[in-house]
Amino acid sequence: MKLFIDIGGTHLRSEIHTGREVICDKCSSRENDLVLFIEKTLSAYGECSFIGISFAGQVENGEIISSPNINVSQKKIKAYFETRYALRLEIDNDLNCAVMAEAENLKTQSIAALYVGTGLGAAVIDGGKLVRGCRNQAFELGHIPYRKAPFSCGCGKDNCLELFASGGGIERWLRYNKREEGSVKPNLEKMKKENDPLAEMFEEALLHAAAILVTLGNPETLVLGGGIIQENSYLVPWIREQIVSMALPTSLEGLHIVQTKLQNAAMDGAKLLEERE
Ligand SMILES: [Zn+2]
Repeated sequence: MKLFIDIGGTHLRSEIHTGREVICDKCSSRENDLVLFIEKTLSAYGECSFIGISFAGQVENGEIISSPNINVSQKKIKAYFETRYALRLEIDNDLNCAVMAEAENLKTQSIAALYVGTGLGAAVIDGGKLVRGCRNQAFELGHIPYRKAPFSCGCGKDNCLELFASGGGIERWLRYNKREEGSVKPNLEKMKKENDPLAEMFEEALLHAAAILVTLGNPETLVLGGGIIQENSYLVPWIREQIVSMALPTSLEGLHIVQTKLQNAAMDGAKLLEERE
């Protein structure tokens, strides 16, 4: 049996590959500890040779460095499972996983992924290799300084781009302006039609994110994905048109800007972790 997991701030998605069948499941990541979830799965299904995890947080060498929104009782998760069970476990950041799957799907060696969902994330593959940085945190685009917000980000700062250019960010602005209570998924397309200033603020920040990524990463392809991109179909053509005014003109020459065709690139990337050296 092999187990693949995609865990974010809201959901824990899992796929169990038994060789005969694939069992897919989804539960709340707020109510389930990742380590307990894996142990429960292992005791229910028996022998497991590989676990691949796409994780919405910072990860380095099989160890979780930061996970403001996810329950994990063992930060050294790779060492924990590999010493207790005869199996191999690989875990990587969700955007790293997503960009690997996108590169394979689009058959390119030069790609930047920009995902807009609850958060804002990016990752880059250059010359066929993932750009990692020294602690596997390269292109943490959501946390670059942008503008001061009246509330702080999960990372502790109050000026992150993610506070403006993400679904979770806009949701917090709606609550801050007392227009919504509790958890809401912002409908940007509708907000734009109503000339909502928050939609304009979001667009400006998103365009900023895309232009920075293209200017710094200089990819052949920019792929956009995540819940907010998928649910607001106007965004990708809009970025294609508007980015001209923001990014370095020469970095736009020959650039393809596309929307993801993958249902869950992060989960697809978790499966690719097995092939990694
Ligand atoms: Zn931040």
